[in-house]
Amino acid sequence: MKPKYKRILLKLSGESLAGANKHGIDFDTVSAYCEPIKKLIDDGVQVGIVVGGGNFWRGRSSGEMDRTRADHMGMLATTINALGVADALEQIGVDVRVQTAISMREVAEPYIRNRAIRHLEKGRVVIFGCGTGNPFFSTDTAAALRAAEIEAEIILKATLVDGVYDKDPNTYTDAVKYDVLSFQEVLEKDLKVIDSTAAAICKDNSIDLMVFSILEPENIYDAVCDTKVGTLVTN
Ligand code: UDP
Repeated sequence: MKPKYKRILLKLSGESLAGANKHGIDFDTVSAYCEPIKKLIDDGVQVGIVVGGGNFWRGRSSGEMDRTRADHMGMLATTINALGVADALEQIGVDVRVQTAISMREVAEPYIRNRAIRHLEKGRVVIFGCGTGNPFFSTDTAAALRAAEIEAEIILKATLVDGVYDKDPNTYTDAVKYDVLSFQEVLEKDLKVIDSTAAAICKDNSIDLMVFSILEPENIYDAVCDTKVGTLVTN
């Protein structure tokens, strides 16, 4: 199989990093994701990664807290994940740079678009921490934004479900999986694929999105080779 894309943006949710523990980072799980990522790099694919933070903290689930402060905590959580994934990649010999949307210069590079592209061109994985740097946004939106900025051809959204269904497959046995879907349908049917802000950015900038299960980590590689591993959302 040959990779179909030159530059991709992988979105890893916080949940996907926690493994069976459902909280924190499970390094065996993360290491399993790193192998197909290394394979992509070895094949000359440029890989950017946006990490979520839900395995530590989600602003919108913080109850009585001030939302902005809660979101600041969520963005810091994404940075913990970014550093964890960076370490796991480095352990298998992949060059990595972490860039954060909120400056923390002692820990990571600040996000600078052109610099990120330079790293990608040199075969380094760039992990984007702190989401968009703004409260009231999600890391899905950060993935769409960074994909647009670095001109990624596709966003790979690794989830715990093997694609997009017309209704929740965990609740309804007759749920039907889509092979291909438009962003317009995602917005109109309010399908829980990515949030509406992220869907709008993808739609307006013609960025494709592949949603697939990360329970088989090699899907990360196969999705870049256009194997039918999940649901393709496109214009
Ligand atoms: N967050 C934010 N702005 C962003 C991205 C994330 O404030 O641009 C905060 C928000 O509180 C969010 C948390 O970081 O709940 C973790 O991100 P997300 O919920 O998207 O993570 P995931 O569900 O992918 O693990």
